[in-house]
Amino acid sequence: MYITLKDINKIYPNGFHAVHNFNLEIEKGEFIVFVGPSGCGKSTTLRMIAGLENISSGEFLINGKRANEMGPREREVAMVFQSYALYPQMTVYDNIAFGLTLQGVDEDVIEQRVLKTAKILGLTDYLDRLPKALSGGQRQRVAIGRAIIRKVGIFLMDEPLSNLDAKQRVTMRYEIAQIHQETGATTIYVTHDQTEAMTLADRIVVMKDGYVQQIGTPYELYFKPANVFVGGFIGEPPMNFARGRVENGSFRFGNAALNLKDCRKDAAALEGREIVLGFRPEAIVLNPQENAFRVDCDVELTEMLGDNTNVYITSGEQQAILKVDSHDTPEMDAPLTFYIPHEAVYLFDGETELVINQD
Ligand code: ATP
Repeated sequence: MYITLKDINKIYPNGFHAVHNFNLEIEKGEFIVFVGPSGCGKSTTLRMIAGLENISSGEFLINGKRANEMGPREREVAMVFQSYALYPQMTVYDNIAFGLTLQGVDEDVIEQRVLKTAKILGLTDYLDRLPKALSGGQRQRVAIGRAIIRKVGIFLMDEPLSNLDAKQRVTMRYEIAQIHQETGATTIYVTHDQTEAMTLADRIVVMKDGYVQQIGTPYELYFKPANVFVGGFIGEPPMNFARGRVENGSFRFGNAALNLKDCRKDAAALEGREIVLGFRPEAIVLNPQENAFRVDCDVELTEMLGDNTNVYITSGEQQAILKVDSHDTPEMDAPLTFYIPHEAVYLFDGETELVINQD
């Protein structure tokens, strides 16, 4: 294994326990994304990997060698920060070359590598400019160039796209994916944006309040969320949830009584249990369908997004969001019937909020 984090904890000097028993093994070349809401400990974990923050307890290995006490240079990591941290008085060329110049690398070699890096990043025409004469996206590319030119083993990025507008973010996301394909560098990327996480990652680490919630591929996180938090965090709009008790084999969702025997082999074992039922907005269908639960509701609001429309509904006391093809947009303030396919239903324990798998 290339990088190993074993029972890593971070307790700040003020006593705040920011990261709890973080365990992860990363293979060479993997693109790992740490994702979670503000304050969940993702930057702290990244900074411990970078060597910018000491590790309170646990073991951190690079290539099987203990690295807890290594300085940032020895770890051979390069980091791209949210604020690009470019030198304003230096040209793009000099900003990209800076790390190599410091190392006393030969001028010819530097030139060759700067030109190659600039080509990868589409900066060839901007090498003589100062950072102030660049767009946000171009500045971000210079910051990435400064990191990748060093040919380090581990590439760390902390919210690198957060200063860009929505369009630039999509473009840079694509470019980062391409750079990763070209360089093959092991990358750890921090973001609070689940779309960025889903589109870039080989594997995602979802964090909340300093605890890892789930580690998996984008596919696993979307289709097999480990708990209510991951179900709600991954996917846009988030998964719909309803809380309640299983009574006489059935679960009340708004005006509908869902007979759990229809969708679960373990229905009998769920009797009397407090559960959370979840289904994704995009999993529902509007036409009557076999092997699906029928729900009657009222449409409160529709939100046209282009090809899809979000439909905000209420059924009794229950609220939910449905995602439908825009051609099927229902009328507002009117009744609607929709169907939840049995296989789209997730159940979670009411207390622990962990998924309840059928054997
Ligand atoms: P964000 O997306 O807002 O950057 P994050 O998930 O990266 O969030 P961290 O920056 O890792 O979160 O912070 C995790 C927790 O540790 C937060 O509650 C933060 O307030 C706390 N924290 C960060 N730095 C320190 C510090 N030097 N001393 C004490 N607590 C800190």
